[in-house]
Amino acid sequence: MVGELDFLMPTKLVFGEGRLKEVGEKVKGYGKKALLVTGRKAMKELGFTHQVIEYLKAEGVEAVLYDKVEPNPSKQTVNTGGKLAKGKDCDVIVALGGGSALDAAKGIAVVAKYGGDVWDYMGEGNVPGPVLPLVGIPSTAGTGSETTPYAVITFKEKKMKYFMASPYIFFKVAIVDPLVMMSVPRYITAYTGMDAFTHAAEAYTSRMAQPISDRLALQAIELATGSLPQVVMNGDNLEARTNMALASSLAGMAIAQAGCGNAHCLGEPLGGFFKTDHGAVVGLLLPHVMEYNILTNPDKFVNIAKVMGEKVDGLSLRSAAMKAVEAVRNLLVDIGLPQRLRDLGVQKEAIPEMAEEVMRRNPNGESARTVGLEDVKYLFERAF
Ligand code: NDP
Ligand code: MN
Repeated sequence: MVGELDFLMPTKLVFGEGRLKEVGEKVKGYGKKALLVTGRKAMKELGFTHQVIEYLKAEGVEAVLYDKVEPNPSKQTVNTGGKLAKGKDCDVIVALGGGSALDAAKGIAVVAKYGGDVWDYMGEGNVPGPVLPLVGIPSTAGTGSETTPYAVITFKEKKMKYFMASPYIFFKVAIVDPLVMMSVPRYITAYTGMDAFTHAAEAYTSRMAQPISDRLALQAIELATGSLPQVVMNGDNLEARTNMALASSLAGMAIAQAGCGNAHCLGEPLGGFFKTDHGAVVGLLLPHVMEYNILTNPDKFVNIAKVMGEKVDGLSLRSAAMKAVEAVRNLLVDIGLPQRLRDLGVQKEAIPEMAEEVMRRNPNGESARTVGLEDVKYLFERAF
């Protein structure tokens, strides 16, 4: 029986090949002067930054360029962008790039409106009200930031990476054009895709899971299982890129409702200690976390195994559920991602301190099984 459920997805999704050209038309409904927030190199070198500026201009929207966002954006980058948007009287924020540019743009929209330091608005529900309207164009298929109310920001000096969650930071419009993603290099394609997969798996097995997010999550798992190895093997495969773009946005919608679990709760703080790629960390932790959670709802793990194409007939419930863990391990191998934290440059001596930071933050997210300090250390050690 389905009891009560809430479902909020206020973002207009504009999905499909070549739809980048609609950006001017979509943005002009929200403002006349846009701060265009993007990364430092890729979008400019590929010509997308120029294209977006031209498309905006054609619809009478002026663009102020802020192409300073680094991977794992720092709070300083966000604060500077917020001041720039305010100083230049921008009335809309357009984000173009990977999850880093999209998340930075969300923080910028908050600081431009309310001033101060973005760190004051971190955590859940600390954004006081509506922010500058946001339009997002993801260039990676991974974080799902285009459909989530989350932004992840880094406080480098304090070795802290933390999230902001607020319904006010949803994009008004997300333009998801797989042609913008064709050039993503192999390794980045692999880890961003694994990020999307991890969102789907964590949302599906979360304690907040509900029928709508479950369908979105399972669909994302199925799409990613089929298409992620394909697109890692051949980045020019447009169909596989398109499937991954959709998987990422669907998985974003799923975590927007059901939240993430321990792979993210352990992985994010770790990113404050070591310079690591988000998707590689959470993907590597995922099979360990799945195993840890397996008894909370084995039927759901069996469903994951099934949509991943595993044969489960005739197996005991536990063995069938474990097939999902095995399938995720195989996926990591197929796409060439590291399997151990040591391979990502994490040092064993840091585990106790990392575990304490996890416990100080948000150790469980919406995980079905909760962790204590010893469990976090155990999971890090197993993954090491
Ligand atoms: P990044 O946005 O950090 O991008 C990684 C690299 O890929 C950058 O060097 C970037 O170049 C390059 N790049 C991006 N797009 C292209 C392209 N089309 N072609 C070639 N190169 C490209 O990576 P992610 O997308 O993985 O975002 C990670 C961030 O998102 C982390 O901070 C993570 O914590 C966060 N995150 C947010 C979530 C949310 O719900 N908001 C959920 C999960 C993760 P350049 O530097 O030149 O731009
Ligand atoms: Mn993630």
